[in-house]
Amino acid sequence: MRHFPLFRDLRGRRVIVSGGGETASAKLRLLLKTEATLVVYAADPGEDVARWASEGRLRLVRRRLEEGDALCAALVYGANDDVAEDARAAAIGRRAGALANIVDNLDASDFITPAIVDRDPLVVAIGTEGAAPVLARRVKAEIEERLSPALGVLARIGQGFRHAAEALPMGRARRRFWARYYDDAGPRALAEGGETAVAATLPRLLAESLEETTEPGRVFIVGAGPGDPELMTLKARRLLHEADVVIHDRLVPAAIIELARREATIVEVGKIPGGPSWRQEDINAAMVGHAAGGASVVRLKSGDPGVFGRLDEEMDALDAAGVDFEIVPGVTSAAAAAASIRASLTRRGRNKSFRFLTGQDVDGFAEHDWKALAAPGAAAAVYMGVRAARFLQGRLMLHGADAGTPVTAVENASRPDQKVVAAALDTLPEALAEAGVTGPAILFVGLAPRGAMAALERVEPSTLSLALAAGA
Ligand code: SAH
Repeated sequence: MRHFPLFRDLRGRRVIVSGGGETASAKLRLLLKTEATLVVYAADPGEDVARWASEGRLRLVRRRLEEGDALCAALVYGANDDVAEDARAAAIGRRAGALANIVDNLDASDFITPAIVDRDPLVVAIGTEGAAPVLARRVKAEIEERLSPALGVLARIGQGFRHAAEALPMGRARRRFWARYYDDAGPRALAEGGETAVAATLPRLLAESLEETTEPGRVFIVGAGPGDPELMTLKARRLLHEADVVIHDRLVPAAIIELARREATIVEVGKIPGGPSWRQEDINAAMVGHAAGGASVVRLKSGDPGVFGRLDEEMDALDAAGVDFEIVPGVTSAAAAAASIRASLTRRGRNKSFRFLTGQDVDGFAEHDWKALAAPGAAAAVYMGVRAARFLQGRLMLHGADAGTPVTAVENASRPDQKVVAAALDTLPEALAEAGVTGPAILFVGLAPRGAMAALERVEPSTLSLALAAGA
């Protein structure tokens, strides 16, 4: 971000435009919406500028900008369509301490004027760093369409009520009050009875909201999916956006956490394998504590909350504390990993069941029904299995698994750094080490990437360690 967007107070400040033709009037049309004192320097002004001057909307000086004219100006625009004259105007502005802009010349300007959607006092500014004006226009058109013209009126009336609304406790209650006003009560009142009706609806809405503020908090245990924000459910996105507090695992990437509101309290309760971590009791206490304070808490877990997520311990803690909760499912990483390698988890004639295993449990490497897993056609997804790879290999071989059984590791499934390692059972630990799999990964026992089965049959298993790039 080379240019930082901000809103400059221009009330009563001088803004100078050098030039009086088409380019200048295009800028002026925007500047006339502000509360700035506009001064235009143009020896030969066009019709628009002359008219605005005669209407008293700006001051016109019928000569070119000279040294000293820009004293105390906030902004100076070079809008002469003349490179030399614009550069001279910008230099005069800068020497007087103003920020200078040369229209359509980003590199010679101190700031750029964004595309604007105006629902004053609601203003949306759109910039592309000059990279894609077409894109800016399209985004502007989309936002114009989405924001009802009534929003400006509602925001203006709402502004006058902000102080009264402070009777509501900060956070969820106040936010819900305003959401109701803008989404429902406000537009309805405006349509039915105009501005007077809107003004009358606010105190009524406030009284209703005050009655509800004794409501206790709630916890949503939400599956964030495997990492790609597009693989979240709409419900997960909405709850995350509405949450007062977000308590998330380390595996949930920043791109998803960013979907929370800026004012939300974000707590990372990372459990780094083998490193420092939050104890489950502390996570439970954080959930209960925030909910008891009336907050809407989103407990955000990677994948699906019900798959190797210690969900029951968290539900037990919430029940014990009498906190109401709801579970929102998510795409578990095995489903995402299977999609990445274009494999189905179950297939007619191959496997009638599919197992979700963990490589590790409280006692170390986890024991399973190895005989069933070693049978031809058996398929399983092993979570937390990378460190247990050699153990897994030994147990399966011991129970008669074919040495060539395909085993596929999908690391960081659905993320930009996804890596696929297609191996066979007898070379699994070496293939994982060689590919350097260190991130979260699913090991599929009995599943190969689509199209790779043929390759597995042709190549000597011991020489096979295929590192496929994402989507390959
Ligand atoms: N509830 C989660 C699993 C949590 S256990 C789910 O449903 O996916 C943590 C394990 O999940 C990791 O060790 C890894 O095996 C797996 N995992 C989580 N995110 C992953 C991802 N993006 N790609 C591959 N495996 C992932």
